[in-house]
Amino acid sequence: MISTIKKNIDPLTVSQRLELNFCPRCGHALQDAFVFNRQRRVCPACGLVVFRDHKVAAAVVVANTDGEVLLIKRAGNPRRGYWGLPAGFVDFDETPAEAAVRECHEETGLQVGTVKLLTVTAGHAHQRGANIIIVYEGLDVNGTLSPADDALDACFFPLDALPPLAFSSIRQILMTWREHRPA
Ligand SMILES: [Zn+2]
Repeated sequence: MISTIKKNIDPLTVSQRLELNFCPRCGHALQDAFVFNRQRRVCPACGLVVFRDHKVAAAVVVANTDGEVLLIKRAGNPRRGYWGLPAGFVDFDETPAEAAVRECHEETGLQVGTVKLLTVTAGHAHQRGANIIIVYEGLDVNGTLSPADDALDACFFPLDALPPLAFSSIRQILMTWREHRPA
């Protein structure tokens, strides 16, 4: 298993993410309090301490036998029409690997058989995006390309002729993938 960790979180951007105003458990108005070594939102009625979580996404790098990588053309904003990896939020009841396989199938029609952890990135590409992305290499891929869901198109590209990419992190991930490929 290949695993590297890149930490590049913008604390200002993270702190600007929406604070909760009401207790998600009992509905009472939340207050600020210094608990567990920092200021947090707490509920004076039921005692809930709101621990703010990162949004976690999973992405997958899939290559064909020519070494070209699978990209999708984004249907959603921001960066609609630009290209990215098959990816999406990890839902509460699935593992990151399951999310990567699911998103790839939903967006490209291709079924990934097995996944191998490639890298983990942290940072903020955009306000509505995830700030931790768990990236897998997808192997044993079957099926026919049929873009859908969040993808306007899906296509394999050689690394030296990539289309306009939605975020700089995608190029970094692809370079990481290339470095770790068996020769
Ligand atoms: Zn409460």
